[in-house]
Amino acid sequence: MIDVEDLIALVRNYNPRTNDDLIRRAYAYGRQMHDGQFRQSGEPYFTHPVAVAAILTEQRLDDASIVTALLHDTIEDTKSTYAEIERLFSSEVAELVDGVTKLTNLQLSSAEAKQAENFRKLFMAMSKDLRVILVKLADRLHNMRTLKSMKPEKQAQKARETMEIFAPLAGRMGMQWMREELEDLAFRVLNPEARNSIIRRFITLQRETGDVVHQITADIRLELDKAGIEADVYGRAKKPYSIWRKMQEKDLAFSRLSDIYGFRVICEEEADCYRILGVIHRRWRAVPGRFKDYISQPKSNGYRSIHTSVSGRDGKRVEVQIRTRQMHEVAEAGVAAHWAYRDGVRTKNPFAVDPTKWIASMTERMDEDDHDEFLENVKLEMYSDQVFCFTPKGDVVQLPRGATPLDFAYAIHTRIGNSCVSAKVDGIRVPLWTRLKNGQSVEIITAEGQLPQASWIDIVTTGRAKAAIRKSLREEDRGRFVKLGQELARAAFDHVGKKATDKALRTAAKQLGLADEQDLLARLGSAELTARRVVETLYPELTLATTEEVDAQRPVVGLGADQTFRRARCCQPVPGERIVGITYRGAGVVIHAIDCPALVEFEEQPARWVDLNWQPGRHKAVYTVSMELTISNDAGVLGHICTIIGEQKANISDLRFTDRKPDYYKLIIDVDLRDVEHLHMVMTALEAETDVAQIARHRDLSLKP
Ligand code: MN
Repeated sequence: MIDVEDLIALVRNYNPRTNDDLIRRAYAYGRQMHDGQFRQSGEPYFTHPVAVAAILTEQRLDDASIVTALLHDTIEDTKSTYAEIERLFSSEVAELVDGVTKLTNLQLSSAEAKQAENFRKLFMAMSKDLRVILVKLADRLHNMRTLKSMKPEKQAQKARETMEIFAPLAGRMGMQWMREELEDLAFRVLNPEARNSIIRRFITLQRETGDVVHQITADIRLELDKAGIEADVYGRAKKPYSIWRKMQEKDLAFSRLSDIYGFRVICEEEADCYRILGVIHRRWRAVPGRFKDYISQPKSNGYRSIHTSVSGRDGKRVEVQIRTRQMHEVAEAGVAAHWAYRDGVRTKNPFAVDPTKWIASMTERMDEDDHDEFLENVKLEMYSDQVFCFTPKGDVVQLPRGATPLDFAYAIHTRIGNSCVSAKVDGIRVPLWTRLKNGQSVEIITAEGQLPQASWIDIVTTGRAKAAIRKSLREEDRGRFVKLGQELARAAFDHVGKKATDKALRTAAKQLGLADEQDLLARLGSAELTARRVVETLYPELTLATTEEVDAQRPVVGLGADQTFRRARCCQPVPGERIVGITYRGAGVVIHAIDCPALVEFEEQPARWVDLNWQPGRHKAVYTVSMELTISNDAGVLGHICTIIGEQKANISDLRFTDRKPDYYKLIIDVDLRDVEHLHMVMTALEAETDVAQIARHRDLSLKP
């Protein structure tokens, strides 16, 4: 245990005018009060308040804070009272000790729903005197450092509370070192395996690449020397927890994570910060999007610094923070910088924020009657990676930064998200891809029968919204495919004078080894199965009974007996169109439409050309033609199109979407037809349809004949 004279020496180091008598009295009083009490570790209890006081000396805090640390558990755990402390010390100290006691007694449940409430309580305590929080944080830090002697459940609970409440709070107050240490201590308990594996990776990395920190520090120093700038350079590996968080946020493996080292350049003059930035950017390549100037735009807790990331020749990135010594003090002590002493006087650091003003800015809009609003404002300030928006009724919706009105809608209810048609932000209609900002009020406009669109996936950022949209799209697709399948089946059965009853379809499904008729229809609709195949399965005799139709084996005149033929895929000629054959080695003939641009390449080889004609007479509907359609994205349009094609006694053999936009779809439908007349009938029937914006034969010259 640190004895009282050592403690006084620690204080005197930064505050020669300390009231050592006051500290001596507090030390004696605390020791006497806690006499006979022991910590879990077996040590006398009073070692704890003394250790807390010592932590506060590192922050160079005033006497009242040090005394409060020494007495912080007396009202709670001993027979000491507020009145007694007020009498023996001062009402300032009594108030502070009382504040810490109240804070200790707060039920800081880690349940997520309660978190907001916890923050509110903390802020209420802070608003009286921020030093209460500084003592509490030091108390927590010491408890975390000595957590090992506690029971495992207790350790886990304290660690969670630290990770969720105290570490973010320290960060928010600008005490980065405190935040990092609290996080790391909690991480050790909450996920020791992850922490160990990161540490092991560091060891391996160091073996492979040597002491990178030292090398880079030296490199930066050299550059600064060349430029004649005086500054100190510090480098370090980032803490395991911050690496772990980055791995999770960016979903990257350790090996791919590059900025695991951080460097600080600390100079005297603000102007030097920018010169140093220039030197570093000239020497190394700046990583786009990583430059931040908190000097011209300081954070509300007084933090000032320039941040940039640069990459070396090996592509590895490092982060560099540049600031002056005064800025650095604020960056380390945060809001506590206000109380800090330097050379015996309260430092007049121009960058330290006045804690009263800082808290006032946090609680500015607090109304005695409206604690909820206060809470929301506090929450808005607490999280910088989140946005908080309001429903028209004033309920708060918490979203990750970058969220859109669609994320908002899905956060309220899947049904609201699915039926969202537009949104108003602060009363103004905005596109659904608008990024929401803190404090905005969002109204979602829904419409009955509206369904999520495929393009929404790229608009939303929350997993919840993405999952809901995917699910709906899958269901919608299946529904559409089943409907389409029904039309295809009906047309195909009609074609052979049969009815596509449920029973017939169920039988076909069974014979084809499918689950049921719904499954069969869905496969028909998604072109995994052709209607012809279904008909053939049920009525094999029908497909054999050919009438006086043209022999499908020899539909063209002019082929040699041993010549096989194939329709060119580029132009897909159908009976009724003028055609020409091109011979290929191996006796094959490919039939092109006479106007097919692909013929140009055979102009110099007249020997390969064969005159061909289609057989006169009625051909079977086996000639596949691809058609490109642009249709409006309305429920039922696709099914209707299939009906029309079926009514023309044509078969859809394949269907694929090439473009899905919120208001229209582009798709290619392969239709099996008899001849050019049949093709024109189908196209005319489709053209007559108002929902069909465009229809054309799809000729794809990229396809090899
Ligand atoms: Mn304590």
